[in-house]
Amino acid sequence: METTDIFEGKRSLLITNVVADGKAADIFIDETGTIAGIGADTRKEYKSDADFIVDGDCAIALPGLVNTHTHAAMTLLRGYADDMILQDWLSQKIWPLEAHLTGDDVYLGTRLACVEMIRSGTTAFNDMYFFMEDAARAVDESGLRAVLSYGFIDLFSEDKRETECNATEELVTHIRNMKNTRIKAAVGPHAIYTVSKQGLEWCSGFAREQKIGTHIHLSETEKEVQDCIARYGRRPSLFLDSCGILSSRTVAAHCCWLDEEECTLLKKRGVSVSHNPASNMKLATNRAMPYSLLSATGVNVCLGTDGCASNNNLDLFEEMKIAALLQKFYWNDPTILPAPEALAMATHHGAEALGFGTGRLIVGAPADIVLVSTRRTCNTPLHNTISNLVYSCNGGSVDTTICDGKVLMLEGEIPGEAAVREDAARAARQLVRRARNT
Ligand SMILES: [Zn+2]
Repeated sequence: METTDIFEGKRSLLITNVVADGKAADIFIDETGTIAGIGADTRKEYKSDADFIVDGDCAIALPGLVNTHTHAAMTLLRGYADDMILQDWLSQKIWPLEAHLTGDDVYLGTRLACVEMIRSGTTAFNDMYFFMEDAARAVDESGLRAVLSYGFIDLFSEDKRETECNATEELVTHIRNMKNTRIKAAVGPHAIYTVSKQGLEWCSGFAREQKIGTHIHLSETEKEVQDCIARYGRRPSLFLDSCGILSSRTVAAHCCWLDEEECTLLKKRGVSVSHNPASNMKLATNRAMPYSLLSATGVNVCLGTDGCASNNNLDLFEEMKIAALLQKFYWNDPTILPAPEALAMATHHGAEALGFGTGRLIVGAPADIVLVSTRRTCNTPLHNTISNLVYSCNGGSVDTTICDGKVLMLEGEIPGEAAVREDAARAARQLVRRARNT
């Protein structure tokens, strides 16, 4: 069999000579994309069954990382506008450019995001944007997992609300019809300052009826909290709860300005909180998500990069480090968010938030696996694997990425990567030109 065949379709695969959960191991993936064996004896047991054998070369095997808050197609806006006040940045730069986006742009930008995520060890993501049918096509082709939501923004107008409800319903139907188990739909009410009470209530009712998730921005800035108190007489989480938005299928991004009562409420409702430290620091939200309070309350805290305009990459290894550093610095305590907790946020907490398996390397789990090379300076010496993964490595240390049992990158090679990069670069140039000509 040709070596390139390993990228085509699902095959049984034996990965030898890796370190998993601190122990030397081999991993056998069956043709359904499930981990069928993991441990010291796996090679003996499964060698004759494997279509392919990948020499892990002493790599660290990890569950695929899970990015719980992105706007993937914003890769096209990477580096377009930086170092600005949030409101100016949005109104002068981001929104005028986004007004010219087409479905093809979103397809190409999402393809680029998928390649970037594969290269840096992410196998699943939670995405909110526009033209999501095109994003779904990109995810389908990429081999990754995703939860996709249309960014519902009614701007308190009844007419616009109807358009947004229709767009949400259409996306959910479209994704159902794709019948791809790697792709799920969610509702995506953007935030309390862009969606009316009626819009939020519609979203929560529709999510409940369809048994799908909800993806929302929550308490990113102090202004959002103050405006909410002025408009609705209570803090954002309590207001969202009165609209029925908070449930165990809800992922709330940012959550910088939560108070104690809100943390308790989020725990009670089973909401997952996505920490987005790079974006928060870049846009100066002036407060770090209260990690200690949330974790002590028992809230599932996971990790996200946010879009590429405010990060400016999708590297969850970097995000783990930034999260751990920001928490220590802001709350003035170096013991907050130790490395094992940062790794848990990026792996099984994220998988739990999105309902994609266990996010652990165990028999019976979906084979979402990344191999991190130990033949790098960042992994030399290797006193403590988890310390190196969080504080020393970045996504460039990932050699091999497997999702749903399918090899998406092998020893740094992603088939078709150059074309994806070139197409996205061209689309980004044309987008800026269209915006300038108006
Ligand atoms: Zn966002």
